[in-house]
Amino acid sequence: MPGEFELIRRYFDRAGLADPHPDVVLGIGDDCAIIEPPSQHQLCFSVDTLVADVHFPASADPTLIARRALAINLSDLAAMGATPLCFTLAISLPEADTSWLQAFSEGLASEATQHGICLVGGDTTRGPLSLTLQVQGALPRGQSLRRDGARIGDLILVSGTLGDGAGALDYLDAPANELDCHQRFLLQRYYQPQPRLQLGQQLLAMGGRSGIDISDGLLADLGHLLERSGLGAEVNVDALPLSSALQALRPDQAQSLALSGGDDYELCFTLPETLWNQHKASLCALVSCTPIGHIRTDTGLRDANGKPLVSNGYQHF
Ligand code: ADP
Ligand code: MG
Repeated sequence: MPGEFELIRRYFDRAGLADPHPDVVLGIGDDCAIIEPPSQHQLCFSVDTLVADVHFPASADPTLIARRALAINLSDLAAMGATPLCFTLAISLPEADTSWLQAFSEGLASEATQHGICLVGGDTTRGPLSLTLQVQGALPRGQSLRRDGARIGDLILVSGTLGDGAGALDYLDAPANELDCHQRFLLQRYYQPQPRLQLGQQLLAMGGRSGIDISDGLLADLGHLLERSGLGAEVNVDALPLSSALQALRPDQAQSLALSGGDDYELCFTLPETLWNQHKASLCALVSCTPIGHIRTDTGLRDANGKPLVSNGYQHF
């Protein structure tokens, strides 16, 4: 079994994961990492902890655990419009299981390579399986997609489809051969969320100023955006984009997953209608984007008939 430092060298300070990067002055191996953000940019940070059997089943495929952990952190950078730079990983492991670590390391490296981010440091301890990733990104000075950036009259849009991640929660542990094609699709949406980085960056470049990623469910997360902006919204529940897998469920069940289910990591953003009309073709070339409502002066969330929409999104406490 490798010791702590051999383990770090073999599985973390390795090619494809901790390669030299133009913005990293000093990576893994010292007391701190040093980074030089691109000129005229600001640093943007986010940290997330994933605990086994709270955020993912401890028995899940380690490649998928790693990919998902990094993807959901990258989703926070996407929601600000940031470009990924580097990340740190604090990992607590019950044992140094080399085949688990090998698969975890490969999953992390492939997700990192795909999104152009590198590992620059971390911490490795023994304990119940848990992962804390901190991602750093760059934003053009003074620009960001913020929760307090919505304006009266803005359209509210979402990327991709809603409710898929939550639709998979009942069979996260099920063997693939016992699942139908819709269930396999939902499972893939849960384990392999796609951080909408290019969408976030493009929204920022065209003058978008408001956005959030949907981790706790549309109503909960749009609610956070409205609260920070001091505004309300009307949402047309019939316009919510649903995958074929969700459309195959009972309509009330599909709608409830799309409104309140978490784990989608799609972006919810607002734009003046003129900007949307001008840019919708280029945005939708990246990922489908669907208008689902608009921002209003009176606070609270309502449907098209004026009925209040109440979230039952997940909360830890
Ligand atoms: P320190 O005692 O100064 O905190 P450590 O002995 O914990 O340093 O770690 C040695 C080096 O390995 C540091 O540069 C640290 O950032 C890096 N490191 C430790 N664990 C990880 C990890 N899981 N992923 C990436 N780098 C790590
Ligand atoms: Mg340490």
